[in-house]
Amino acid sequence: MVEIKIDLEKCTGCGTCVDTCPVGVFEIQNEKSVVVNLDECLICRACEAQCPENAIEIIE
Ligand code: SF4
Ligand code: SF4
Repeated sequence: MVEIKIDLEKCTGCGTCVDTCPVGVFEIQNEKSVVVNLDECLICRACEAQCPENAIEIIE
């Protein structure tokens, strides 16, 4: 089971993770990224690589 940690102190709500994730795991709510679809995660780590703030951590 994968765990996705978003550091809300670092997250600017830029939406890059929403645009990057191929399966719609993230949503922006109140200017922060929120995981809404964890079960769909492919563990591709694209979000982790693309987040400009390094706010996302994928933990297997
Ligand atoms: S890419 Fe990073 S900074 Fe931008 S919304 Fe997603 S978690 Fe926040
Ligand atoms: S690891 Fe891939 S599938 Fe999982 S949330 Fe990030 S971009 Fe989406």
